[in-house]
Amino acid sequence: MYMKTQPIYLTDAYVKEMDALVLDVIPEGDRRWKVLLDKTVFYPMGGGQPTDQGILSGSDWSGKVYQVLTREGEILHFVESVAPPVIGSAVHGVIDWDRRYKHMRLHSAGHVIDFAMHVLGYSPKPLYPQKGDHGKKPYIVYSGVTGSDITRELTDKSNELVTKAMPLTTAFVPLAELEKEAIYLQPGLPADKPLRKLTLEGVGSVADGGTQVKNTSEVGLITIASVTAMDDTTVVSYSLG
Ligand SMILES: [Zn+2]
Repeated sequence: MYMKTQPIYLTDAYVKEMDALVLDVIPEGDRRWKVLLDKTVFYPMGGGQPTDQGILSGSDWSGKVYQVLTREGEILHFVESVAPPVIGSAVHGVIDWDRRYKHMRLHSAGHVIDFAMHVLGYSPKPLYPQKGDHGKKPYIVYSGVTGSDITRELTDKSNELVTKAMPLTTAFVPLAELEKEAIYLQPGLPADKPLRKLTLEGVGSVADGGTQVKNTSEVGLITIASVTAMDDTTVVSYSLG
């Protein structure tokens, strides 16, 4: 039911390193291993946010974490090293913080734009949020169209939320509470475990499992490159200054 690894990044996205125990090691290929730990600060690729990378090291072992993925409900650290770490041994993990912080800001920026959509009265109707990608070419996708070009007002409202330096907070809540409080709900949220609620103070809440900055001011200036309507879909492409 619950994963074997405690995901530290879900409760505190600013923790950059951790001490952990090696629970299992699965060979992945030439000098490559999948390592299962009892806890981790490494964010696994998902929710449109790229994987963390970094280093794991023990008393006489070290390896480079090149990707982290969730497989069958467990967080697997894909590690490049001459030999595998010993199961049951202690390791110290450090993430590439510059990479993570960039992705965290891009991810939060996507939500700031989404909250701006709501404030402007476009979401969840006529535009319903579908998905986002916060990697090299960030965008968010809505079903529905507005019938006019909203690029300018979306840019202004998003940056207004950034300039106001508003707190972004997260909390674990039951699905019933999210159903009452969220602006919208993604389909298929599990009913049998606590979900994480992301709140932009004074604006609203959504369900979210990614890493987030604490304050909209950390996102910095948002550029909306385009708001493109095609068929019954709207794609908002953005970048950070
Ligand atoms: Zn998100």
